[in-house]
Formats: sequence, structure tokens, C-alpha cells
Amino acid sequence: MKVLGIETSCDETGVAVYDTATGLRAHALYSQIALHAEYGGVVPELASRDHVRKLLPLIRQTLAESGMAVADIDGVAYTAGPGLVGALLVGAGVARSLAWALDVPAVAVHHMEGHLLAPLIEDDPAGRPQPPFVALLVSGGHTQLVAVEAIGRYRLLGETLDDAAGEAFDKTAKMMGLPYPGGPQLAALAEQGRPGAYKFSRPMTDRPGLDFSFSGLKTQVLLAWRDSDQSDATRADIARGFEDAVVDTLAIKCQRALDAAGCDTLVVAGGVGANRRLRAKLAEMTAKRGGRVCFPRPAFCTDNGAMIAFAGALRLQAGQHEAASISVTPRWDMATLPAV
Ligand code: ATP
Ligand code: MG
Ligand code: FE
Repeated sequence: MKVLGIETSCDETGVAVYDTATGLRAHALYSQIALHAEYGGVVPELASRDHVRKLLPLIRQTLAESGMAVADIDGVAYTAGPGLVGALLVGAGVARSLAWALDVPAVAVHHMEGHLLAPLIEDDPAGRPQPPFVALLVSGGHTQLVAVEAIGRYRLLGETLDDAAGEAFDKTAKMMGLPYPGGPQLAALAEQGRPGAYKFSRPMTDRPGLDFSFSGLKTQVLLAWRDSDQSDATRADIARGFEDAVVDTLAIKCQRALDAAGCDTLVVAGGVGANRRLRAKLAEMTAKRGGRVCFPRPAFCTDNGAMIAFAGALRLQAGQHEAASISVTPRWDMATLPAV
């Protein structure tokens, strides 16, 4: 089954073709970062309009790269939420119309299920992590620990009470004068910083539980930066201190979540999953307990069409699809999904 996947939940237009027989055939991504940079954040209406401009050319490009004609598609998967409602509607409208015209099924994909399954895209089926496992979802809008009992059966173990980890990276970067979007740049800067030069707290690790809080850390950085000489070297030291605090905190909670769920396989997804230090730390933590950690390739940590094509393919294969109306779900609880 060849599935066209469409992602338009935020500021990335992503398209991919996943073939359940041969794997990922092609994928293409257009990022709107430059469009939103002058505003310092995503402007929803501009995002919707840019998806309108870019989606059809990207679909044509992806089909051409996969060596397929549009008539070869057996199903269409699209992100239906959570996300920006106008942006979601562009992808949903195109996906449903295309499916209608081709007389193939269309399936609505939960964006965070897409992220969660991204580490499974490239593995050969035999090497794939098998549920039960624990998933750490760390993106720009979410920080969640999820017990994955089966594909499609997700139990929330803990989540952030305020900022998401990626959001904390972005806001901290902005406070220290790094250009938008600062998360990846802050991480790059941390590479040059001295470990231990600045020590920030590991929020909420001193009490039981699996929830997170990152907004206090942001304030600690703000104060440290304000009272410093604000040199490039200091910025790098603070970046390193901040990154270490976030990475340690995530690792401590992941370990706890594995204990709570009684398993040794951790799956990590979402933009912060591209962070090198986080990847190394979680690899070390899981190896120590004789388990393993699975990540997507860095390009599939952030938003992309491949994860939507893949998640949609699993659901289409299970016979799920939507009726012919177009709707999206900007706020959507993953625990309400049906099992595959
Ligand atoms: P959500 O999926 O929750 O709706 P989103 O789609 O905006 O949010 P993603 O695209 O998964 O989030 O990830 C983007 C986030 O990842 C940004 O906050 C960015 O700063 C962060 N990020 C990307 N690369 C890195 C990195 N190397 N280190 C730390 N953070 C990173
Ligand atoms: Mg993004
Ligand atoms: Fe995302």
C-alpha cells in the first residue's frame, strides 16, 4: 500500500510517500522559518497562506522523486491536529479532496502519534521496538512521557506543567539574543561552553512523579545572563549549563518512567530529540540498565511528512479511514485514539 502523507500543523509543509511493502519512497519539506523570523514566532495566518502556496508543488515533487504517478497512491494521510487550525485545514482540505478524486481512503493522523512513531520508520520490521515501551515526546509544544501499550494505545505518564522543553530552548535562546528559532542554535553554542561553569537546577526531580516544569529554569538563566558580563564565552557557558539541566532532567524522568512502566525500551521523538547531548545521555542511561533507546534520524525529529505517511499507513492497513467530510482537531487528547 502506497500512502501519501501530508503535514501542515505549524510552520513546516511536509510531504512523503511511504510504501508498506518497500518503506519510505520519497519525502520533501519546506520550512517557513524565514517567513516568521522577523516576527520572532509563528504568525498563524501567514503560515496557512504559505502552506497553500507550497503544498501542491511539494506533492508533485515528492511523487516525481518516488517515481510514481498520482494514480499509484492507495491512500492519503494528513495531520488533523493538534496544531494551528488554519494550517491544519490546508493539509486536510488538499488530502481529502485528493483522496475523493482518486477514490482512495483518507486517514486523519494525530501529529504527536506521528512524532511518536517516527523512530520506527526506517527500521526493518524485525528490528523495530515492540510495544510495550515508553516514549518521550519532546517538541516545541509538548513534553510528555507516554506508556505505549500497543500502537494506538497510549497512556500519559507525565507531562510539562508549563513550558515544553523545545519552547524552553527557544525562549532561553531569545533571552540571550540568539536569532529565531533559537533552540538548535543554543544547542550548537552549548558545544563550546564549559560544563559546570553555570549550574542550574533539575526541576521537579527532588520529588516523586513524572511531570516536568521548565519555566523556572528559564528564569534562572535570565538572572544569570543579566548579572554576567554578557560575553560570547559566557553565553556559551550558560547555554551549556542550561542544556545540561534540561538533558539531566529528561534523563532522570525517563529512567523513572521505565521503572514505573516495567520496561527497558525507550523511544524518543520530537524536535528536542535531535539534541546530541540528549541522545548520548539517554543511550548511556538505557545501556546501563540493559535496555535500549530508539531515535528517528535528526531530520525526522522535527516536523516532517514521513512520520505522517507512516502513521497513516499503519491505520489505513488496519482498515481505518475517515468519512468524506473535512474536519480537524486543533486540541486532541492522544488517549482517545482507537487501538490499531
Ligand atoms: P509540536 O510537535 O509539539 O506541535 P513543533 O512541531 O513545533 O511542536 P518540533 O518540530 O517537533 O516541534 O520541534 C521543534 C522544537 O525542537 C523547537 O522548539 C526547537 O528549538 C527544538 N529543537 C530542534 N533541534 C534541537 C536541538 N538540537 N536541541 C534542542 N532543541 C532542539
Ligand atoms: Mg516547526
Ligand atoms: Fe511537531
